[in-house]
Amino acid sequence: MFTHPADVIKYCPRCGCKAFISNDKGRSFKCEGCHFNYYINSSAAVACLIFNQEGKLLLARRAVEPAKGMLDLPGGFVEPMERAEEAVNREIREELGVQVTQADFLVSYPNEYIFSGFSVFTVDLAFICCVDNLSGIIPGDDVSEVEFIFPREIKKDELCSESMVKIIDYFISHKI
Ligand SMILES: [Zn+2]
Repeated sequence: MFTHPADVIKYCPRCGCKAFISNDKGRSFKCEGCHFNYYINSSAAVACLIFNQEGKLLLARRAVEPAKGMLDLPGGFVEPMERAEEAVNREIREELGVQVTQADFLVSYPNEYIFSGFSVFTVDLAFICCVDNLSGIIPGDDVSEVEFIFPREIKKDELCSESMVKIIDYFISHKI
């Protein structure tokens, strides 16, 4: 399946011209009709590491595509004009129903998130988070259940993306 923007985008979104030419290995487009320029950049996303008192990491089982049924760190896309820290608070409130009390940036890794047959390139910003009430977690619609697992015992083939594997590996090698 060809999901890269250069394989999917056929027409200029401004004027509808078919001469919407991708350059720079598909990282930019230029319209030969109206001269509109469009760049493919990374979208910012947040991933949250929340631990219980035993040191087990909270993982959310995805209830929706893509990667339905796989384990994910809670988080999501940063909205336009939103701070990454605000996205952490909002996503944890929406996905788990609890309030973040502290969030410390850990590391970032790139990812390719394929949605609706279209590649969205992200930079996943990982934060170590504390929440106000771990026992009060109520999974939102896009999470089927939450599980607590010791980081070293997480099965990598159950994680939904390579960036989540790298974030957890980074945590294990730098923080444990
Ligand atoms: Zn155009």
